[in-house]
Amino acid sequence: MQIEELDRAYLFHPMTNLAAHEQNGPPLTIVEGHGATVTDSNGRDYLDAMAGLWCVNVGYSHPEMADALHAQASKLPYFHAFSSMGTELPALLSERLIRMAPVPMSKVFFGNSGSDANDTQAKLVWYYNNVLGRPEKKKIISRRRGYHGVTVLSGGLTGLKNLHDGFDLPLPMIRHVRPPHRLWERAPGQSDEEFSTALAAELETLILDEGPETVAAMIAEPVMAAGGVIVPPDTYFPKIQEVLDRYDVLLIADEVVNGFGRLGVPFGSDAVGMRPDLMTVAKGITSAYVPLSAVLVSEKVWQVLLEGSAKYGSFGHGYTYSAHPLAAAAAMANLDIIERDGLIAQVAENGAYLHELLRAEFGDHPNVGEIRGKGLMAALEFVESREPLRPFAAQGAFATAVTLHSREAGVITRALPEADTVSFSPPFVTTRDELERMVVGVRAGLDRAVEARRS
Ligand code: PLP
Repeated sequence: MQIEELDRAYLFHPMTNLAAHEQNGPPLTIVEGHGATVTDSNGRDYLDAMAGLWCVNVGYSHPEMADALHAQASKLPYFHAFSSMGTELPALLSERLIRMAPVPMSKVFFGNSGSDANDTQAKLVWYYNNVLGRPEKKKIISRRRGYHGVTVLSGGLTGLKNLHDGFDLPLPMIRHVRPPHRLWERAPGQSDEEFSTALAAELETLILDEGPETVAAMIAEPVMAAGGVIVPPDTYFPKIQEVLDRYDVLLIADEVVNGFGRLGVPFGSDAVGMRPDLMTVAKGITSAYVPLSAVLVSEKVWQVLLEGSAKYGSFGHGYTYSAHPLAAAAAMANLDIIERDGLIAQVAENGAYLHELLRAEFGDHPNVGEIRGKGLMAALEFVESREPLRPFAAQGAFATAVTLHSREAGVITRALPEADTVSFSPPFVTTRDELERMVVGVRAGLDRAVEARRS
């Protein structure tokens, strides 16, 4: 059997229309990647404008990443971290993360994915409130369009309906508020300041309606990724933070996409003025060469967790692969490359160039309702009409068509769920020439999608 036939017959794909896959098999099998280019099984090259899923930041097949993984696998591929045991690299990496953190943090807990790390966050805030003797303070607030994972808990924190449907999510202790998405959520004539004030007031109303004694935490991406690359107004997080502080509600920053330079600054919290008590990182921590996530815990939370030992004994949470030495080796090499090659400054410069290109190419297009983003993270949101502002009736179909046609033109981008949006999140090492070719490819995809609608 050909690979494609084996795949169609046996592989249960994530985030896939199962019936369509059963019928058609995979549209693309990627067999190789170098820098920002991936190659399919027919030998065709594509520019990957998404760095996989917002994650291959140092680019595909970086020789130093391969060397670091080979060296660690040849020395000690695995040992666990349960019962106070340990290996060398996770200890070095945790110290490095604490040094890099955008706000003072004290401890690092390692997991394997963004989803399990956000489940860890929920368990930490529940444990925290149980230790403090307030077991009713358990609800977690998230935002519609926020993406925080797909596990039983984190899937509900995610504020996208198509990730809830059929799974009985979210769990009952989760609440969602409006996102700071100017295009659809801001009232006509409202300034950024007024919009932020209104969203903070809604958050406060929700907390008061629920009872502050029942609300434990809020989780938020600094700049939302899968929900549409939504950059909040500058005043948004400071106003949200004031409300949270007033009711003793912890803030969890989900830096899974933003962290380690994607926005042209080290962390998203730096860019939007968040002061989190807890932080989640994953993806860019290893540039996805090996799965790894981490939860960073502030001293305020840590001191309470410590008190938990007297009440509960051993902390009853952790994974076989927590503090995996191979993953830590990948993270150390990845962070070395980013630091040594000045990749975060390069993201800031090339990000500004990408946004210039997008504005020049799509700024006047009648179907482009908004161009937004920061650093090497950008999105085009499509509309049926700009004046009056009207979305497409079949939500998401147009962006999916643009993505499929862009791929025919040799560029991989991503249509985001529940929004007529295509996103850009190329590897940090993407050259200016490659950025230009990505934009040209997506323009070709858009032109073909417009033609297809007419015919
Ligand atoms: N948080 C954010 C902001 C994400 O974008 C993602 C995945 O895209 C996750 C959490 C979940 O991470 P994972 O897919 O590794 O479970």
